Amino acid sequence: MKIETKCLHEGYEPQNGETRVLPVYQSTTYKYDSTEHVGKLFDLSASGHMYSRISNPTVDAVEKKIAALEGGIGALCTTSGQAASLISILNILSAGDHFISTSTIYGGTLNLFAVTMKRLGIECTFVDADASEEELQKAFRSNTKAVFGETIANPAIAVLDIEKLARFAHKNQVPFIIDNTFATPFLCRPIEHGADIVIHSTTKYMDGHAIQVGGVIVDSGKFNWDNGKFPCLCEADESYHGVVYTKQFGAAAYITKARVQLMRDFGAYPSAQDAFLLNLGLETLAVRMERHCKNADAIAHFLNKSDKVEFVNYPTLDGNKYKSLADKYLPKGASGVISFSIKGGRDNAVKFMDALKLASIVVHVADIRTCVLHPASSTHRQLTDEQLVGAGITPGLIRLSVGLENIDDILEDIQAGLDAVK
Ligand SMILES: *Cc1c(COP(=O)(O)O)cnc(C)c1O
Repeated sequence: MKIETKCLHEGYEPQNGETRVLPVYQSTTYKYDSTEHVGKLFDLSASGHMYSRISNPTVDAVEKKIAALEGGIGALCTTSGQAASLISILNILSAGDHFISTSTIYGGTLNLFAVTMKRLGIECTFVDADASEEELQKAFRSNTKAVFGETIANPAIAVLDIEKLARFAHKNQVPFIIDNTFATPFLCRPIEHGADIVIHSTTKYMDGHAIQVGGVIVDSGKFNWDNGKFPCLCEADESYHGVVYTKQFGAAAYITKARVQLMRDFGAYPSAQDAFLLNLGLETLAVRMERHCKNADAIAHFLNKSDKVEFVNYPTLDGNKYKSLADKYLPKGASGVISFSIKGGRDNAVKFMDALKLASIVVHVADIRTCVLHPASSTHRQLTDEQLVGAGITPGLIRLSVGLENIDDILEDIQAGLDAVK
């Protein structure tokens, strides 16, 4: 099946006479014929649902669909993208370990890695995603256990050289974990370029309608954990009578451990109802992404021609720093998110924003409706103009998430915004 077809048909296959649409299994609990079977479930020697904090048939169908879309062997849904990043790291790192992340990542992930992980005794070194492999190597330590990056990063709309990061991680025998939220598997499948673990905030394009927060972790099944660096996967887990994940679950060791150990303990599993809604979003992912990309490309070119605009970040523009990486990794488009800077700083950016009628001011991206955010007066409000520039954000920078409206209506709104700027 091609990806458009997978969006509709993977994960749930109704048998004769069953509901055509994935049902919402609104049950915390499952019933068994014998105590022996329950014992086997608790020993992980039989598969099946135990309790809806660990798995649920509706969520399971969505996990199978996302795994198929990314080309992985298994997936685990979480209650948010943040929970997905946290669990993807904690599944293989403990206090005393270290990992490397590119510095151009989502702000929430940055806080998690720099502050909260540190409190847990796990240290992160941030590196420039555009650095050479020799430069990257300098950040590597004997206790480094993972490399992390983002396919398309905000606010520079920077495209990651996935193969370079994967090569660097694999040379050092550690997995490469990638946040593929903005690209979605419709635009890019990082596993095909060497990524080992893919995570998403499903809150963004996968849901697409701004109705529920969620996340997912996908395992490629390709990383060899049995190299001496990951005893947590290769030695006995006392909380399951000595199960050794790599022995019992083979290629699915990582994703099985994340579910049966960490999800059991942390309890960040989504509800069946949320998974049902996420599935509705996934069914139309391919058609939506095509239109998001087409509209964003048109808006980026339009903004680029305006004399009121200082610069536009969108990888399909000629002369964009990331154009060749986008041609390689994002041949179908670069998502609906653009950032651009209005000349005249904060004041003019606010005038532009306040003149918009169609685009709504929200703290969100990747919605079907066009929306805008001015980081200098919202998410990065506490920073001075000087600090903003250090964070790669100019005072006039606007993040525009282009929706699915008719392009002429969006253009008219943007023009009204530009007209309001002196
Ligand atoms: C929003 C986002 C997250 C965090 O996801 P939540 O679902 O909000 O917890 C992580 N990574 C990226 C790239 C995001 O855009």
